[in-house]
Amino acid sequence: MRYFLKTLFRGLLLIAIMVGIVAFAGWKATGGQSSLAAPLNNLRASMLNTAGSILSNFQIGNFKIDTSKLIGQQKEVKPKTTDSTIPIESNVASLTLSNTYYYHFQEGTPQSVKNVFLQAINTYNNTGIVKLVPGTASGMQNSIAMGTYNQNTTNVQGDTVDMELGKGGPESFQSTLGDWVHGSAKLNVYYPAATSVSVATHELGHALGLGHSSDPQSVMYPTDQGMTQLTQGDLSTLRTIYSNGSTNDTTTNNNNQ
Ligand SMILES: [Zn+2]
Repeated sequence: MRYFLKTLFRGLLLIAIMVGIVAFAGWKATGGQSSLAAPLNNLRASMLNTAGSILSNFQIGNFKIDTSKLIGQQKEVKPKTTDSTIPIESNVASLTLSNTYYYHFQEGTPQSVKNVFLQAINTYNNTGIVKLVPGTASGMQNSIAMGTYNQNTTNVQGDTVDMELGKGGPESFQSTLGDWVHGSAKLNVYYPAATSVSVATHELGHALGLGHSSDPQSVMYPTDQGMTQLTQGDLSTLRTIYSNGSTNDTTTNNNNQ
């Protein structure tokens, strides 16, 4: 939220600059007789160009959240296809991201939930593709907040019980200075089944930019299959997301959780 306010403030500042430029342009129109008119006109044009390019390149807070569900009492899970290609969350597909994330647990997160997330974090760190380190992100660094929520989402349709076990996703930020992500991964503790390594790995996958997979072996399959290991398809998509980013973010952080 702090970073959202910071970017909001920057947006307002840019609008103020634009208003100033328009006022300047209006002043020029009525003061055109002056010998300063030509150079001022040039200055005005270049200011408009600069402000225009800043505004056109500035985008804030593109938020994507997905939920993980457990379908109970289902006759059978249809193996749809062997295609293990996993889409990238739409709002991070065009970003150039650092592979380093600073993560923290929200206040009040039970140790049992921290434990399953820590195992999921290990799984992603073991890929060598991304690096999740405990601490607080600053400026344009990537962050992930992990925690819980408590919500009865049970929806019975026919013989199918639909429960939301968690949610996760990236909030993406783009600017002329670089791209970054604030990810979120949360488990719905209303359901004991949510506190599992497979759901934590799934939601963390969303936070890192992975979309849903049609491969039941993938941790990114939309309904929980108890999978905790990443498939070649998972790895391949992860690699694609972070292929353009910097891998040498050496900024130190503390505030370990
Ligand atoms: Zn999901």
